[in-house]
Amino acid sequence: MLKRFKPDIICNNIFEIDLKKLKSRGINYLIIDIDNTLVPWGELEIKSEVFSWIKKAQELGFRICLVSNNQKERVKKIENVLGLPSVYNAKKPLKSGFLKASYILHEGKKNHQTAVIGDQFFTDVIGAKRLRLFVILVRPLKEREFFVTRINRIFERRILKYYMKDESK
Ligand SMILES: [Mg+2]
Repeated sequence: MLKRFKPDIICNNIFEIDLKKLKSRGINYLIIDIDNTLVPWGELEIKSEVFSWIKKAQELGFRICLVSNNQKERVKKIENVLGLPSVYNAKKPLKSGFLKASYILHEGKKNHQTAVIGDQFFTDVIGAKRLRLFVILVRPLKEREFFVTRINRIFERRILKYYMKDESK
């Protein structure tokens, strides 16, 4: 069961993602989580490196949509600052938020050209894998989180250990 939800790439942060390699794999669309992937949870300040990374991705030809389980107010603020379309209250791991983003990006076609980037196994990875999307799991930017997330993290650490072991075989 776990194999089905194995992230395609696991890395420390968005900056470690090899965007050119993603492009060469035929990926043209990025669906990106906000909290603890691009912006620390509960904060609004976005680092200049994040702006440069987004610009670089766009220059390489990626089209980007943000997908967050957070509420409209916060998500819209980030949408405005980053100048990217977004889906708020996405209810990940349900499919609906990812489907909305896919519609914004490419009218819902060509699933195989889309990669999802997020920091949580139980929302980002499971949701995206249910749609058979390419998934990149990054480490969370900040330890302090919503309490449900903190509980999920305990299980997440175990699952990641399993994947690492599986990788080294
Ligand atoms: Mg997150």
